[in-house]
Amino acid sequence: METYCGKSVMQGIAVGRIYLHKRADYHAAAQKASDPEAERARFFAAAEEAKAELARLYEEALADMGEEQAQIFEIHRMLLEDEIYLKEVLAKLTEGYQAAYAVSCAGEAVAAMFAGMEDEYMKSRAADIRDISQRVLRALLKLPDEEIQSEEPVILAAEDLTPSETLKLDKEKILAFVTVKGSVNSHTAILARSMGIPALVNTEFSLSESLQGKTCVVDGFTGRLIVEPGEELLSRILSQKAAWEADILALEQLKGQENRTKSGKTINIYANIGNVADADAALLADAGGIGLFRSEFLYLGRESAPTEEEQFAAYRAVLKKMEGRKVVIRTLDIGADKRADYFQLDEEENPALGYRGIRICLDREDIFTVQLRALYRASTYGKLAIMFPMIVSMEEVVRIRQIAADVRKALVEEGCVPGEVELGVMIETPAAALLSDRLARAVDFFSIGTNDLTQYTLAADRENRRLEKICDAHHEAVLRLIEMTVENAHAAGIWVGICGELAADETLTEHFLELGVDELSVPPSAVLRLRRVVRELP
Ligand code: PEP
Ligand code: MG
Repeated sequence: METYCGKSVMQGIAVGRIYLHKRADYHAAAQKASDPEAERARFFAAAEEAKAELARLYEEALADMGEEQAQIFEIHRMLLEDEIYLKEVLAKLTEGYQAAYAVSCAGEAVAAMFAGMEDEYMKSRAADIRDISQRVLRALLKLPDEEIQSEEPVILAAEDLTPSETLKLDKEKILAFVTVKGSVNSHTAILARSMGIPALVNTEFSLSESLQGKTCVVDGFTGRLIVEPGEELLSRILSQKAAWEADILALEQLKGQENRTKSGKTINIYANIGNVADADAALLADAGGIGLFRSEFLYLGRESAPTEEEQFAAYRAVLKKMEGRKVVIRTLDIGADKRADYFQLDEEENPALGYRGIRICLDREDIFTVQLRALYRASTYGKLAIMFPMIVSMEEVVRIRQIAADVRKALVEEGCVPGEVELGVMIETPAAALLSDRLARAVDFFSIGTNDLTQYTLAADRENRRLEKICDAHHEAVLRLIEMTVENAHAAGIWVGICGELAADETLTEHFLELGVDELSVPPSAVLRLRRVVRELP
């Protein structure tokens, strides 16, 4: 028995034979063309052929799997027209090389550029570039298209899977994905989430032929690939799997059902997300909307802040995916444990009590304005609500509203009319909870961030393991602040949700319903479980 660790991107357990998928990548040799002009023409003809093929694949995927999955082929078609990519190809053609070599080189160079980026999403685009280059090469060299062969349902293991490979797979035959490369944003991860099957990326193993056909377990809970598990372990895993599957099946029945108690009380159950891809999991879980999109994750792990266009694309993508369901996007909550070097924030003695969230945004209006512009521009694609973190005063809200109104006005003057957007605040400091009667008259909604509300109320760092017992969200003081906030929201006629971890705490669901909380926003995997709890309440 051997065990390998990976990063789980989808929970669940799969048991089956491993199928190694090794792609035959074509790399053309560096050969000079006898007729450079003719080579140019050959490249453009092959690119046109590839584009026509992509248009066909788009139509097929649209019919089979819907717009969201089909979009990747449209993106590939656009990448084929991308200036950087074309420039690389043309540079090699100008040096007199054959088209096949020019395409090989350009594919590698542009893929390496993407792979070197800090941002996980951009990194994952390297696979797309390699994919389109292979397609053009196949067209140039008249090579047959690749297909993944598998007779029985298998655990598909690959170095990495290109988007078109993943889309062409016979989904009935795939029990799980395991890839050596890949990231949470890779298409394998997205597909696994939308198929609801376990998947590991970044797995520490090599695709040695000796693995082919061996019985394996993919454990999406612990992020492990177990090759040839012993009998005892296997039977334990199989019973865990059976219990998990029975529960999933039971939960599936709840899709499309209302979050309604036996006596008729209802509550919205939304999902918390940290990136665009997570919206797929939210949809899969039948979440009523997105209650918290932690937008700061778009800013982390990169060299510079995301541009207005990058942010606009991300917000628009989530709004479009959610098809009219409400999407609450929280503005940048950087600082404390979430740090980005390019903001050049000073080291602080007490970061959790320091320079973070809205405090930075109100100081650095340039950064704040870029985000608000992107948000307002995206607002026409769905039902957007914007919320602001770490509020402690009315003055902050007044200033925020002023900046938001200025951004909106500027956009209208530019000819871009934003949609209707609700503006709300997070109640995650005792100050905000205590002022919630006044704040409620200045905003459209509240969302209670119990993670921070707990740490600030109990003066107990949420990151400090030694304080786990003290940092207890069930503490009477925290529950009283929640109650006060809900009452004040309703007295002013606005809605109030909870988006901290406590929202998913099933022991408090009845209490929240009694208080009249309007919305609970929880991780996608908790949505249907919470619905079940609500429906079982008297
Ligand atoms: C919270 O504080 O409860 C919250 C939802 O925000 P975060 O966990 O991102 O600080
Ligand atoms: Mg918080």
